[in-house]
Amino acid sequence: MPQPSRVAVVGGGILGLAHAYSAARRGHSVTLFERGSRAAGASIRNFGMVWPIGQPAGDMHNLALRSREIWLDVLEAAKLPYRPDGSLHLAYHEDEAAVLQEFAEIGPRSGYECEWLDAEAVGACSQAVEPRGLQGGLWSSTELTVDPRLVISRLPAFLEALGVRAHFGSAVRRIEPPVVETASERYEADHVIVCSGDDFETLFPNVFAASGLARCKLQMMRTPPQPGGWLLGPSLAAGLTLRFYKAFQICSTLTKLRQRVADEKPQYERWGIHVLVSQTADGAITLGDSHEYGLCVDIFDKAEIDELILREAATFLRLPEPSIAERWHGVYSLHPEKPYFEAEPAPGVRIVTAPGGSGMTLSFGIAERSMERMCL
Ligand SMILES: Cc1cc2nc3c(=O)[nH]c(=O)nc-3n(C[C@H](O)[C@H](O)[C@H](O)COP(=O)(O)OP(=O)(O)OC[C@H]3O[C@@H](n4cnc5c(N)ncnc54)[C@H](O)[C@@H]3O)c2cc1C
Repeated sequence: MPQPSRVAVVGGGILGLAHAYSAARRGHSVTLFERGSRAAGASIRNFGMVWPIGQPAGDMHNLALRSREIWLDVLEAAKLPYRPDGSLHLAYHEDEAAVLQEFAEIGPRSGYECEWLDAEAVGACSQAVEPRGLQGGLWSSTELTVDPRLVISRLPAFLEALGVRAHFGSAVRRIEPPVVETASERYEADHVIVCSGDDFETLFPNVFAASGLARCKLQMMRTPPQPGGWLLGPSLAAGLTLRFYKAFQICSTLTKLRQRVADEKPQYERWGIHVLVSQTADGAITLGDSHEYGLCVDIFDKAEIDELILREAATFLRLPEPSIAERWHGVYSLHPEKPYFEAEPAPGVRIVTAPGGSGMTLSFGIAERSMERMCL
């Protein structure tokens, strides 16, 4: 084992928390800095889907599976609720069924544990699925759902029990190892890991400016808790999602589906809409999302996007309580080619950020990898 070091982590989102966890588990002395009085970035605004099935075959899928393993250890140790209910991708068109059947055939050879279910078997798996027009679905038991607001607010206390010192309301404004400076304090650390989400301006702005990183805005909605303990079962996705997750790019049948969606649903193309559905710990249903790319995020949400999401959801989802109780948007950072961004702007400093739409899935795996790369 390497000698214990002083490790500072900047950012209390899932990536920062995962790095703090990995470093503390290796016996290092860890201090975590979060600028807000609580984290309020992408990590509390998402579906909470730990979703290996979305990752491309090979390295990233393996990383997602390893991340999932660590998630399970953490959730159990921290006594946090989660839903180990898997995922269902639904097919209502011939081309959607063709992609999912092709994936069910070739995916298992690349390590995806999944199978095609006919419409009746899907109905037996989920009371939430609209049976009219359903052709079948792809079932995978691997996916988990965590409650993002709950886990991000409770993980710091769990980390503190592992010896991590967590400072909230503490924006880091300068890092010159060994010095880490906040507005009011100076700390010393041997290694600093910067997980500042989509804040490209505060620390190392030149590195960020040269990185090619961009921002993506997503609109989201949530119902009230569903009545009578109603359960969603597996988290749901449908045909539009197959355009987004790289895993499905191994399917030769995907081109036809893409073309139909582009022809029939130009407004869904324009706003990058697909529909995912998950359930929080208190039983509410989270629905989204859209994708608007660029460095400058539009602060005004578009009613049209919400309407398109709800219209699409109604084609495959049946809920006892479909009203919308909350609307919000989230922003994540992403790299145009890499699955996440790493840089070493100074000796002893590592930036790790921009896991795009897969940060909940990948963070614990990425953090473990960072420790190996930093020889910690
Ligand atoms: C709407 C939406 C839905 C998504 N759904 C999923 C999903 O279901 N599954 C999945 O795998 N991924 C999902 N993602 C992606 C995932 O949420 C992100 O990849 C992930 O949360 C990024 O985590 P992060 O820690 O890098 O960033 P953030 O959560 O944004 O955290 C960064 C933190 O750093 C802090 N910070 C920044 N600068 C400083 C500083 N100088 N000093 C101190 N603190 C600082 C910020 O205050 C912030 O709290 C979704 C994202 C969005 C937006």
